[in-house]
Amino acid sequence: MSDALKILLIGQSKVGKSCIILRFCENTFTPITGTTIGVDFKFVEHKVDQKVHRLQVWDTAGQERFRTITSTYYRNMDGVLVVYDITDQNSFEQVTDWVKEIRKHAPIDIRMLLVGNKSDLNGSRKVTQENGKNLADFLNCPFIETSAKTGNNISESFTVLTRAILKIKSEKGE
Ligand code: GDP
Ligand code: MG
Repeated sequence: MSDALKILLIGQSKVGKSCIILRFCENTFTPITGTTIGVDFKFVEHKVDQKVHRLQVWDTAGQERFRTITSTYYRNMDGVLVVYDITDQNSFEQVTDWVKEIRKHAPIDIRMLLVGNKSDLNGSRKVTQENGKNLADFLNCPFIETSAKTGNNISESFTVLTRAILKIKSEKGE
């Protein structure tokens, strides 16, 4: 099997990045009170279009609170899930700042997916789907809403991102 595809989750603290990784890698949802799942990354095998791919999924373990994510985190990444919380307008407004960081430090052809998490909390929604879609169009990347709590669209997010990564790799002849 070829090298693992490296995927980073980024976004404001508390938007649900660690929960998304837990749901995707272990299919559980454990409400987390701390800011870290204790490890930097997890390996997971993910089947996309009849083929199993090995993904290395990186968490930021709380550094996002202090904006101390160094360029080494971004280097060598193939894809990034930029996550906000649909019930938290501020987390949505911070997305463009995170994307600036990504564009500054990550490889030029890194693939991005904008993720609006906590879709199960529709009653407390502050960011509409249209807001999310418009921002994604502006950033020139796809958009999806997820719930780490119910599992809605979690696997699909990684599928969309994996496909985009494979496409650019094949265009580059890798
Ligand atoms: P991180 O700081 O971005 O890694 O966020 P966490 O994964 O630690 O989650 C922050 C809080 O949001 C925790 O209390 C989680 O239980 C909660 N949370 C995460 N994802 C969801 C979700 O999809 N729905 C709901 N209702 N709560 C969530
Ligand atoms: Mg976390």
